[in-house]
Amino acid sequence: MERTITIQQIKDVAQEAYNLYKDNTEGKNADYIPYLANINPKLFGISICLMNGEKIQLGDYQYQFGIESVSKVLTAILILRQYGAQKVLEMIGADATGLPFNSIMAILLENDHPSTPLVNAGAISADSMVQPIGNSDAKWKAIVDNMTELCGSAPQLIDELYKSESATNFNNRSIAWLLKNYNRIYDDPDMSLDLYTRQCSMGITADQLSVCAATIANDGLNPDTKKQVFGKELAPKITSLIATVGFYQHTGDWLYTSGVPAKTGVGGGVLGVMPGIMGIAAFAPPLDEAGNSVKAQLAIKYIMNKLGMNIFNGHRISIS
Ligand code: GLN
Repeated sequence: MERTITIQQIKDVAQEAYNLYKDNTEGKNADYIPYLANINPKLFGISICLMNGEKIQLGDYQYQFGIESVSKVLTAILILRQYGAQKVLEMIGADATGLPFNSIMAILLENDHPSTPLVNAGAISADSMVQPIGNSDAKWKAIVDNMTELCGSAPQLIDELYKSESATNFNNRSIAWLLKNYNRIYDDPDMSLDLYTRQCSMGITADQLSVCAATIANDGLNPDTKKQVFGKELAPKITSLIATVGFYQHTGDWLYTSGVPAKTGVGGGVLGVMPGIMGIAAFAPPLDEAGNSVKAQLAIKYIMNKLGMNIFNGHRISIS
Protein backbone atom coordinates (compact mmCIF):
# COMPACT_ATOMS: atom_id res chain seq x y z
CA MET A 1 0.00 0.00 0.00
CA GLU A 2 1.23 3.50 -0.92
CA ARG A 3 0.61 6.27 1.60
CA THR A 4 1.55 9.89 2.03
CA ILE A 5 2.11 11.45 5.43
CA THR A 6 2.60 15.18 5.84
CA ILE A 7 5.32 16.69 7.99
CA GLN A 8 2.58 18.52 9.87
CA GLN A 9 1.01 15.15 10.79
CA ILE A 10 4.33 13.94 12.18
CA LYS A 11 4.75 17.19 14.12
CA ASP A 12 1.25 16.92 15.59
CA VAL A 13 1.67 13.29 16.61
CA ALA A 14 5.11 13.93 18.16
CA GLN A 15 3.66 16.84 20.14
CA GLU A 16 0.78 14.63 21.34
CA ALA A 17 3.24 11.98 22.50
CA TYR A 18 5.33 14.59 24.28
CA ASN A 19 2.33 16.10 26.08
CA LEU A 20 0.91 12.70 26.94
CA TYR A 21 4.04 11.34 28.63
CA LYS A 22 6.04 14.31 29.87
CA ASP A 23 4.67 14.05 33.40
CA ASN A 24 4.89 10.25 33.58
CA THR A 25 6.89 9.24 36.67
CA GLU A 26 7.20 5.48 36.11
CA GLY A 27 10.61 3.81 36.14
CA LYS A 28 13.85 4.58 37.90
CA ASN A 29 17.21 6.00 36.80
CA ALA A 30 19.99 3.41 36.41
CA ASP A 31 21.64 3.23 39.82
CA TYR A 32 24.48 0.75 39.25
CA ILE A 33 26.47 3.57 37.63
CA PRO A 34 26.54 6.38 40.25
CA TYR A 35 26.62 9.25 37.71
CA LEU A 36 23.40 8.08 36.06
CA ALA A 37 21.54 7.82 39.36
CA ASN A 38 21.90 11.60 39.81
CA ILE A 39 20.57 12.80 36.45
CA ASN A 40 17.35 14.85 36.59
CA PRO A 41 14.61 12.22 36.04
CA LYS A 42 12.27 14.81 34.52
CA LEU A 43 14.38 15.38 31.40
CA PHE A 44 12.51 14.31 28.26
CA GLY A 45 13.39 14.94 24.63
CA ILE A 46 12.26 13.68 21.24
CA SER A 47 13.99 14.18 17.89
CA ILE A 48 12.97 12.92 14.46
CA CYS A 49 15.20 13.33 11.39
CA LEU A 50 13.71 12.80 7.95
CA MET A 51 15.56 11.62 4.86
CA ASN A 52 15.85 15.20 3.56
CA GLY A 53 17.47 16.27 6.84
CA GLU A 54 14.39 18.06 8.14
CA LYS A 55 13.94 17.65 11.89
CA ILE A 56 11.01 17.57 14.31
CA GLN A 57 12.19 18.15 17.87
CA LEU A 58 10.65 18.56 21.29
CA GLY A 59 11.70 19.11 24.90
CA ASP A 60 15.26 18.37 26.02
CA TYR A 61 16.49 17.20 22.63
CA GLN A 62 19.72 19.16 23.10
CA TYR A 63 20.56 17.79 26.52
CA GLN A 64 23.78 15.79 26.48
CA PHE A 65 23.30 12.41 28.19
CA GLY A 66 25.32 9.20 28.44
CA ILE A 67 24.97 7.27 25.18
CA GLU A 68 25.68 3.96 26.98
CA SER A 69 24.52 0.90 25.04
CA VAL A 70 23.27 2.88 22.06
CA SER A 71 27.01 3.30 21.33
CA LYS A 72 27.11 -0.41 20.51
CA VAL A 73 25.24 0.35 17.28
CA LEU A 74 27.79 2.96 16.24
CA THR A 75 30.83 0.78 16.93
CA ALA A 76 29.13 -2.16 15.22
CA ILE A 77 28.91 0.08 12.15
CA LEU A 78 32.62 0.86 12.48
CA ILE A 79 33.64 -2.80 12.46
CA LEU A 80 31.19 -3.48 9.62
CA ARG A 81 32.97 -0.71 7.71
CA GLN A 82 36.41 -2.09 8.58
CA TYR A 83 35.74 -5.82 8.16
CA GLY A 84 32.56 -6.24 6.10
CA ALA A 85 29.34 -8.07 7.00
CA GLN A 86 30.61 -11.65 6.63
CA LYS A 87 33.64 -11.25 8.90
CA VAL A 88 31.56 -9.61 11.65
CA LEU A 89 29.16 -12.56 11.48
CA GLU A 90 32.05 -15.00 11.81
CA MET A 91 33.98 -13.15 14.51
CA ILE A 92 31.06 -12.01 16.70
CA GLY A 93 27.71 -13.24 15.36
CA ALA A 94 24.27 -11.77 14.75
CA ASP A 95 22.03 -13.76 17.08
CA ALA A 96 19.73 -12.42 19.78
CA THR A 97 20.68 -13.70 23.22
CA GLY A 98 17.20 -13.33 24.78
CA LEU A 99 19.05 -12.44 27.98
CA PRO A 100 19.96 -9.21 29.82
CA PHE A 101 22.57 -6.93 28.21
CA ASN A 102 25.32 -7.86 30.67
CA SER A 103 24.65 -11.60 30.76
CA ILE A 104 27.57 -13.89 31.46
CA MET A 105 25.31 -16.88 31.00
CA ALA A 106 24.83 -15.87 27.34
CA ILE A 107 28.57 -16.29 26.79
CA LEU A 108 28.62 -19.67 28.50
CA LEU A 109 25.61 -20.88 26.53
CA GLU A 110 27.12 -19.83 23.22
CA ASN A 111 30.85 -19.97 23.77
CA ASP A 112 31.66 -20.32 20.10
CA HIS A 113 30.86 -16.63 19.57
CA PRO A 114 29.61 -13.67 21.62
CA SER A 115 26.22 -13.65 19.76
CA THR A 116 25.85 -10.04 18.63
CA PRO A 117 27.77 -6.75 18.82
CA LEU A 118 24.73 -5.19 20.51
CA VAL A 119 25.10 -6.81 23.95
CA ASN A 120 27.99 -6.12 26.33
CA ALA A 121 29.99 -9.22 25.39
CA GLY A 122 29.77 -8.64 21.64
CA ALA A 123 30.39 -4.92 22.07
CA ILE A 124 33.61 -5.48 24.02
CA SER A 125 34.62 -7.97 21.35
CA ALA A 126 33.75 -5.36 18.68
CA ASP A 127 36.01 -2.81 20.38
CA SER A 128 38.79 -5.37 20.37
CA MET A 129 38.35 -5.67 16.59
CA VAL A 130 38.61 -1.94 15.87
CA GLN A 131 41.64 -1.23 13.73
CA PRO A 132 44.50 -0.49 14.11
CA ILE A 133 44.96 -3.47 16.47
CA GLY A 134 47.29 -2.79 19.39
CA ASN A 135 47.01 1.01 19.37
CA SER A 136 44.54 2.27 21.95
CA ASP A 137 44.75 5.97 20.98
CA ALA A 138 44.28 5.29 17.27
CA LYS A 139 41.42 2.88 17.99
CA TRP A 140 39.73 5.51 20.14
CA LYS A 141 40.14 8.09 17.39
CA ALA A 142 38.52 5.70 14.89
CA ILE A 143 35.60 5.14 17.30
CA VAL A 144 35.04 8.88 17.86
CA ASP A 145 35.48 9.81 14.18
CA ASN A 146 32.91 7.19 13.22
CA MET A 147 30.47 8.50 15.85
CA THR A 148 30.99 12.05 14.59
CA GLU A 149 30.34 11.05 10.98
CA LEU A 150 27.18 9.17 11.93
CA CYS A 151 25.78 11.90 14.19
CA GLY A 152 26.83 14.84 12.02
CA SER A 153 28.68 16.46 14.94
CA ALA A 154 31.12 15.32 17.62
CA PRO A 155 29.94 13.63 20.82
CA GLN A 156 31.76 14.67 24.00
CA LEU A 157 33.18 12.41 26.66
CA ILE A 158 31.44 12.90 30.04
CA ASP A 159 34.51 12.48 32.18
CA GLU A 160 32.59 12.02 35.42
CA LEU A 161 30.53 9.23 33.85
CA TYR A 162 33.65 7.53 32.50
CA LYS A 163 35.25 7.60 35.95
CA SER A 164 32.05 6.47 37.62
CA GLU A 165 31.64 3.58 35.22
CA SER A 166 35.31 2.54 35.24
CA ALA A 167 35.20 2.29 39.02
CA THR A 168 32.15 0.02 39.05
CA ASN A 169 32.35 -2.14 35.90
CA PHE A 170 33.28 -5.43 37.61
CA ASN A 171 30.76 -7.48 35.64
CA ASN A 172 32.13 -6.18 32.35
CA ARG A 173 35.67 -7.00 33.44
CA SER A 174 34.58 -10.61 33.92
CA ILE A 175 32.98 -10.59 30.47
CA ALA A 176 36.18 -9.32 28.82
CA TRP A 177 38.31 -12.03 30.36
CA LEU A 178 35.76 -14.79 29.78
CA LEU A 179 35.69 -13.82 26.12
CA LYS A 180 39.47 -13.95 26.08
CA ASN A 181 39.16 -17.51 27.32
CA TYR A 182 37.03 -18.32 24.25
CA ASN A 183 39.40 -16.50 21.84
CA ARG A 184 36.78 -13.85 21.10
CA ILE A 185 38.85 -10.86 22.16
CA TYR A 186 41.03 -9.79 19.26
CA ASP A 187 43.23 -7.29 21.10
CA ASP A 188 44.27 -6.68 24.69
CA PRO A 189 41.22 -7.46 26.94
CA ASP A 190 41.75 -4.58 29.37
CA MET A 191 42.24 -2.11 26.53
CA SER A 192 39.11 -3.41 24.76
CA LEU A 193 37.10 -3.06 27.96
CA ASP A 194 38.40 0.47 28.52
CA LEU A 195 37.44 1.51 24.99
CA TYR A 196 33.98 0.05 25.55
CA THR A 197 33.58 1.89 28.88
CA ARG A 198 34.76 5.14 27.31
CA GLN A 199 32.43 4.87 24.32
CA CYS A 200 29.49 4.23 26.70
CA SER A 201 30.46 7.42 28.57
CA MET A 202 30.13 9.65 25.53
CA GLY A 203 27.66 12.48 25.91
CA ILE A 204 25.16 12.62 23.09
CA THR A 205 21.90 14.48 22.41
CA ALA A 206 18.61 13.13 21.08
CA ASP A 207 19.24 15.45 18.13
CA GLN A 208 22.54 13.70 17.32
CA LEU A 209 21.07 10.24 17.84
CA SER A 210 18.22 10.99 15.45
CA VAL A 211 20.75 11.97 12.77
CA CYS A 212 22.62 8.71 13.36
CA ALA A 213 19.35 6.75 13.13
CA ALA A 214 18.42 8.63 9.95
CA THR A 215 21.83 7.82 8.44
CA ILE A 216 21.12 4.12 8.98
CA ALA A 217 17.59 4.54 7.59
CA ASN A 218 19.06 6.40 4.60
CA ASP A 219 21.41 3.62 3.42
CA GLY A 220 24.45 5.14 5.12
CA LEU A 221 24.04 8.64 3.69
CA ASN A 222 23.93 11.19 6.50
CA PRO A 223 20.92 13.46 5.70
CA ASP A 224 22.43 16.28 7.75
CA THR A 225 25.95 16.40 6.30
CA LYS A 226 25.03 14.71 2.98
CA LYS A 227 28.10 12.51 3.40
CA GLN A 228 28.03 8.77 2.57
CA VAL A 229 29.26 7.37 5.89
CA PHE A 230 29.09 3.65 5.13
CA GLY A 231 28.31 1.37 2.21
CA LYS A 232 24.60 1.00 1.58
CA GLU A 233 24.83 -2.80 1.67
CA LEU A 234 25.58 -2.49 5.40
CA ALA A 235 22.35 -0.62 6.28
CA PRO A 236 20.08 -3.69 6.38
CA LYS A 237 22.74 -5.59 8.32
CA ILE A 238 22.86 -3.01 11.09
CA THR A 239 19.06 -2.62 11.11
CA SER A 240 18.67 -6.39 11.44
CA LEU A 241 21.02 -6.43 14.44
CA ILE A 242 19.01 -3.62 16.04
CA ALA A 243 15.71 -5.38 15.30
CA THR A 244 16.78 -8.70 16.82
CA VAL A 245 18.34 -7.55 20.09
CA GLY A 246 17.83 -3.79 20.58
CA PHE A 247 15.73 -4.27 23.72
CA TYR A 248 17.58 -7.36 25.00
CA GLN A 249 15.14 -9.86 26.55
CA HIS A 250 12.20 -7.58 25.67
CA THR A 251 13.03 -7.20 21.99
CA GLY A 252 10.10 -9.33 20.79
CA ASP A 253 7.60 -7.39 22.88
CA TRP A 254 9.09 -4.13 21.64
CA LEU A 255 8.93 -5.02 17.94
CA TYR A 256 5.46 -6.49 18.31
CA THR A 257 4.10 -3.35 19.94
CA SER A 258 6.10 -0.63 18.17
CA GLY A 259 6.92 -2.02 14.73
CA VAL A 260 10.24 -0.16 14.64
CA PRO A 261 13.75 -1.60 15.13
CA ALA A 262 15.29 0.35 18.02
CA LYS A 263 18.22 0.28 20.41
CA THR A 264 18.27 1.44 24.01
CA GLY A 265 20.86 2.52 26.57
CA VAL A 266 20.77 2.83 30.35
CA GLY A 267 21.45 6.57 29.98
CA GLY A 268 17.78 6.78 28.91
CA GLY A 269 18.28 7.11 25.16
CA VAL A 270 16.49 5.12 22.45
CA LEU A 271 17.40 5.20 18.74
CA GLY A 272 14.82 3.91 16.22
CA VAL A 273 15.28 3.24 12.51
CA MET A 274 12.42 3.35 9.98
CA PRO A 275 14.27 2.36 6.78
CA GLY A 276 13.80 4.87 3.98
CA ILE A 277 11.57 7.09 6.10
CA MET A 278 13.18 8.50 9.21
CA GLY A 279 15.37 8.17 12.25
CA ILE A 280 13.78 8.77 15.63
CA ALA A 281 15.38 9.26 19.02
CA ALA A 282 13.92 9.86 22.44
CA PHE A 283 15.55 10.41 25.80
CA ALA A 284 14.27 10.20 29.39
CA PRO A 285 16.37 8.78 32.26
CA PRO A 286 13.92 6.58 34.24
CA LEU A 287 14.16 2.94 33.10
CA ASP A 288 12.07 -0.21 33.34
CA GLU A 289 13.51 -3.34 34.96
CA ALA A 290 15.31 -4.39 31.75
CA GLY A 291 17.15 -1.05 31.56
CA ASN A 292 15.04 0.57 28.84
CA SER A 293 13.73 4.15 29.12
CA VAL A 294 10.05 4.12 30.05
CA LYS A 295 9.06 7.45 28.49
CA ALA A 296 11.20 7.04 25.39
CA GLN A 297 9.49 3.72 24.73
CA LEU A 298 6.02 5.14 25.28
CA ALA A 299 6.67 8.14 23.05
CA ILE A 300 8.17 6.21 20.14
CA LYS A 301 5.46 3.57 20.28
CA TYR A 302 2.75 6.23 20.29
CA ILE A 303 4.25 8.06 17.32
CA MET A 304 4.77 4.91 15.24
CA ASN A 305 1.35 3.45 15.95
CA LYS A 306 -0.52 6.70 15.41
CA LEU A 307 1.24 7.27 12.07
CA GLY A 308 0.81 3.61 11.06
CA MET A 309 4.56 3.29 10.50
CA ASN A 310 5.63 -0.32 10.91
CA ILE A 311 8.42 -2.17 9.14
CA PHE A 312 6.17 -5.24 8.93
CA ASN A 313 3.12 -3.71 7.24
CA GLY A 314 4.87 -3.19 3.93
CA HIS A 315 3.44 0.31 3.46
CA ARG A 316 5.42 2.50 1.11
CA ILE A 317 5.26 5.85 2.83
CA SER A 318 6.24 9.12 1.26
CA ILE A 319 6.51 12.28 3.30
CA SER A 320 5.35 15.58 1.87
N1 GLN B 1 27.88 0.85 30.03
C1 GLN B 1 26.74 0.08 30.40
C2 GLN B 1 27.15 -1.30 30.82
O1 GLN B 1 28.00 -1.84 30.21
C3 GLN B 1 25.79 0.01 29.23
C4 GLN B 1 24.59 -0.83 29.49
C5 GLN B 1 23.35 -0.39 28.76
O2 GLN B 1 23.20 0.75 28.34
N2 GLN B 1 22.40 -1.31 28.65
O3 GLN B 1 26.66 -1.85 31.77
